Amino acid sequence: MGILIYTESENGKFKKSAYELASYGRAIADQLGVELIAVSFNHEDATQLGSYGVDQVIQINDPSLESFTAQQYASNLATIAQTKEIKLIVLSSSANAKYIAPLLAVSLSAGYASNVVGLPESLEPLTVKRSCFTNKAFNTCTLDNKVNIIGLSNNSYGSFENPKEVNFSQASAVIAETTIKVEQVEKSSGEVSIADADIVVSGGRGLKGPEHWHLIENLATTLGAATACSKPVSDMGWRPHSEHVGQTGKPVASNLYIAIGVSGAIQHLAGINSSKVKVVINNDPEAPFFKAADYGVIGDAFEVVPELIEKLKAFKSS
Ligand SMILES: Cc1cc2nc3c(=O)[nH]c(=O)nc-3n(C[C@H](O)[C@H](O)[C@H](O)COP(=O)(O)OP(=O)(O)OC[C@H]3O[C@@H](n4cnc5c(N)ncnc54)[C@H](O)[C@@H]3O)c2cc1C
Repeated sequence: MGILIYTESENGKFKKSAYELASYGRAIADQLGVELIAVSFNHEDATQLGSYGVDQVIQINDPSLESFTAQQYASNLATIAQTKEIKLIVLSSSANAKYIAPLLAVSLSAGYASNVVGLPESLEPLTVKRSCFTNKAFNTCTLDNKVNIIGLSNNSYGSFENPKEVNFSQASAVIAETTIKVEQVEKSSGEVSIADADIVVSGGRGLKGPEHWHLIENLATTLGAATACSKPVSDMGWRPHSEHVGQTGKPVASNLYIAIGVSGAIQHLAGINSSKVKVVINNDPEAPFFKAADYGVIGDAFEVVPELIEKLKAFKSS
C-alpha cells in the first residue's frame, strides 16, 4: 500500500516537477495514512526528495534505461506498483509522463486522469478536477478503479518542504521487449528548459528577424528565464522548433510569461494559459494579447526591451 510517484530527472538533476509531485503525493499520503514512494531512474543522489516529504525512494540504475523509452519506463513502474500493491500513482504532465501514463494504465487496468489541477476533491471514490479544452474549461471526474493514475498539471500545486527520513532501495531494471531504439537525442539549446522554467521570455514576428533575438536572450539571461517563440518564428527558422509554444507547440506553465511582439492568437494563448502572470509588450494597443495579459506595455519592443533590461540590471545590482 502507498502512493507512487515517478520523479523525472535530466542531466542528473531532478526536474522541478519531481518536487511538486513529492509535495502533492505527501498531502494525499497524509490524508490516507500511507507511505509515499518515489521511483527514480539513473539518479545517484535522490536525498533531496526527502526534503519534500518522500518516505521511500526506489532507484533503478541501469545503462539500458539511460535514454527514455516509454515502454521500458512504464513496465518498470508497473512492476513496482504491483509489488508494492500501489493503488494511486501520480505522474507529472511532461510529454514523457503523458506517454507513459496510458501504457501504465493498460498494464495495471488502471484509470487515468490527465491535467489534474489540485488535490482530489474526494479520495473514496477518487474525484479530481482537471483542465480541458486547452485550459479553457474544467471538468470533475471520478476514477472508480482498483488502481488509479493522476497526471498532475505542472505548476498547479507547488513545492513545499517537508523533511522526512528517507529509506533508499535499489530495484533491478525490468527490460521489456520493445521495437523502439533510441539512436540520438537532440536537446534544445537554451540554458533553462521551457517546461522547468519559472520565467519564460517569448518573442514573436514583431521582432522582425533572428538578428534581433539578442533582445529576447538578454532579457532571459537577466531574469534567469527560458526563451520561447511563436509558431511562425520557428516555422521561418528564426528559432529552433523546440522553442515553439502554443497549441501545436510546447505548453508553458511558468510563474511569469513575457510575450514580446506576439499578437496573442488563440492557438498561441492555448499553450500559455496556465502561466500564472502574463505580460505583453506590443506596439499595437488592439493586439488580442492585451485581453489575456495581466500586465501590458504598449510600445516598440526595440525601445522597451533594452530599457527593461537596463532597469532590471540596475535593480539587481542595487
Ligand atoms: C492549426 C493552427 C495551429 C497553430 N498553432 C500555433 C501555436 O502552437 N503557437 C503559435 O504561436 N501560433 C500557432 N498558430 C499560428 C497563430 O494563428 C498565429 O498566426 C501566430 O501565433 C502569430 O504569431 P506572432 O504573434 O508571432 O505573429 P503576428 O501575428 O504577425 O504578430 C506580431 C505582433 O507583433 C507586434 N509588433 C510588430 N512590431 C512590433 C514592435 N516593434 N514592437 C512590439 N510589437 C510589435 C504586432 O503588433 C503583432 O501583434 C497556429 C495556427 C493554426 C491555424
